[in-house]
Amino acid sequence: MRTNRAALAVIGGSKAYDLLRDNGFGKEEKKEIVKTPYGPAASARLFHGDGYHYWFMSRHGEKGYDTAAAYVNYRANIWALKKLGVERIVSWSGPGAVNPAIAPGDFAVPHDAIDMTRNRASNFFEGTGLGFIRMSEPFCPEIRAAAIAGIAATGAGARDRGVYLCTEGPRLETAAEIKMFGQWGADLVGMTLLPEAFLARQMEMCYAAVCYCTNYAEGVVARDFREGELFEGMLSAAEKEKVEDAVFRFPHVIAETLHRLSRRERGCKCGVAMERYRREGRAGDLLQLAKSCAKKS
Ligand SMILES: [Zn+2]
Repeated sequence: MRTNRAALAVIGGSKAYDLLRDNGFGKEEKKEIVKTPYGPAASARLFHGDGYHYWFMSRHGEKGYDTAAAYVNYRANIWALKKLGVERIVSWSGPGAVNPAIAPGDFAVPHDAIDMTRNRASNFFEGTGLGFIRMSEPFCPEIRAAAIAGIAATGAGARDRGVYLCTEGPRLETAAEIKMFGQWGADLVGMTLLPEAFLARQMEMCYAAVCYCTNYAEGVVARDFREGELFEGMLSAAEKEKVEDAVFRFPHVIAETLHRLSRRERGCKCGVAMERYRREGRAGDLLQLAKSCAKKS
């Protein structure tokens, strides 16, 4: 499939935006706030990297953690990126470790997911019967490969597989929940990647995540409750330093990943997720279809 190699986007946190802007990894050219059928999307900023462009979107707001994961307007953000012509999304996220072999500050590129969210709009095509999409690879294998190579190019290591479990939040998980998630095969637990990844697939966009582990999940290691601290004592001072190091690698990891993607045409199956419906004449312009579904609901 021929594709526009410039059609790249990064979804990250507010700190991620500051790091991109302040570290000379690309030049910001303009800002767009796309109106969508779901309300305004998070602002998208166009950056010019080394031979490519990409859109950057702050998932939780640009000034800090303004919007908790449960209240992110995932449909608006994905619809907006599709409208801007994006075909491939690299997501940046900091989950906790359910698997004790993953330490705070470690990178992982998950290959599979478990959805334990409860109250999030997760379908663009309500009322149509569309959306019966195979999930053999919920994260794009091409972006995953580029991200794994991109992380390695910065001198860091990355687990090249992992099961990401998404909870509703905003509270953190109980020790009993984490124990159960571990028995299910989850390696990482977070609140942000779903339904974002599923919505991107509905829009036939590639999506994969670079995860940096922010802490051991509850009960994975014994930790006293310390009031007034981040995660109330779940993170030691030495671990915090490692996490900060991973965060500061963000612009470099993203630049290495996007550089690889920009030199490669899309050859995965993400772009034909709705092909069956297209052949039946039921899925033409996906943005328009989603818009008409939103009007009816
Ligand atoms: Zn793909």
